[in-house]
Amino acid sequence: MIKVTVWNEYMHETHQPEVAEIYPEGMHGCIAGFLGSNEDIEVRTATLFDPEHGLTEEVLEDTDVLIWWGHWVHEKVEDAVVERVCRHIRGGMGFIGLHSAHHSKVMKALLGTTLNLKWRHGDRERVWCTTPSHPIAQGVPQQFELPVEEMYGEPFDIPEPDETLFLGWFAGGEVFRSGVTYRRGNGRIFYFQPGHEEYPTYHNENVQRIITNAVRWACPCERSHAEIPVENSEPLEKQEINEETPEQLTFF
Ligand code: ZN
Repeated sequence: MIKVTVWNEYMHETHQPEVAEIYPEGMHGCIAGFLGSNEDIEVRTATLFDPEHGLTEEVLEDTDVLIWWGHWVHEKVEDAVVERVCRHIRGGMGFIGLHSAHHSKVMKALLGTTLNLKWRHGDRERVWCTTPSHPIAQGVPQQFELPVEEMYGEPFDIPEPDETLFLGWFAGGEVFRSGVTYRRGNGRIFYFQPGHEEYPTYHNENVQRIITNAVRWACPCERSHAEIPVENSEPLEKQEINEETPEQLTFF
C-alpha cells in the first residue's frame, strides 16, 4: 500500500467562493478523491491550518509520497516544517510539486534556484508527452488539451532536470517544461505545472492519470539498500575484513 499525504495551503478555496465552487472539498480533497479510488493507494490530507501544517514527524514517517499545492502564503510555512519535509525527501520520501508549488520553500530548498518563470492567466494549454516510455506517462496520450489554464512560460529557472516528461504549449505562443523529475538524496521528485486554482484542472482525467502514475513512480517501496546518508555522519569505523583468502580463490 502506498501512503500518500496531499498537502494544500487551502487559502483560495476558503477565501474565494469561485474557487470553492470548482473544488468544494478543496484541491487536496479532489486529489485525495481520485488517488484514493486506487486499491494500492491510501491517502490522507493536511493543510496550512493544521498544527505544524499537518506535517508532523509522525505523519511524514508514515508517508511514502507527499503532494504539495501552495501559492498565496508560501512564506507562512514554518521553516522547521520545511526542513523536516526536505530531510524526509532526502531520506527517500517521494515529492510531487504541483503548479505554483514551484515557489514553495520546499522546492527552492531542494533545487537551489529561483524557479522564476513567466505567467499569464486565462490561456489554453496543450500538454505534449516527450517521453512516452516513462512510468509517469503510461496511458497518457501523446498530447491533450486543457481548454483554460494559466500560462507558465520559459525561461524557467530550474536546474537541468533529470528527465523532462511533458512540454506545455500555450495558445499565446509560449512553451514550458511542464513535467520534470529530479532526485535529491534517496528521494524522487516530480514537478507538474497544470493546476491553477481558478480552473478545473484536477478534474481532468489525463492530469489525474499523470499524478496517479507519479505517485507510484515516486514511492520508495523498492528503494535500494545502499542509501545515501541523510545527515552528515561520523567517520566510518574501519571494517574488520577477513584477509584470509579462501584457497579456491587464489587462482590469480
Ligand atoms: Zn496559478
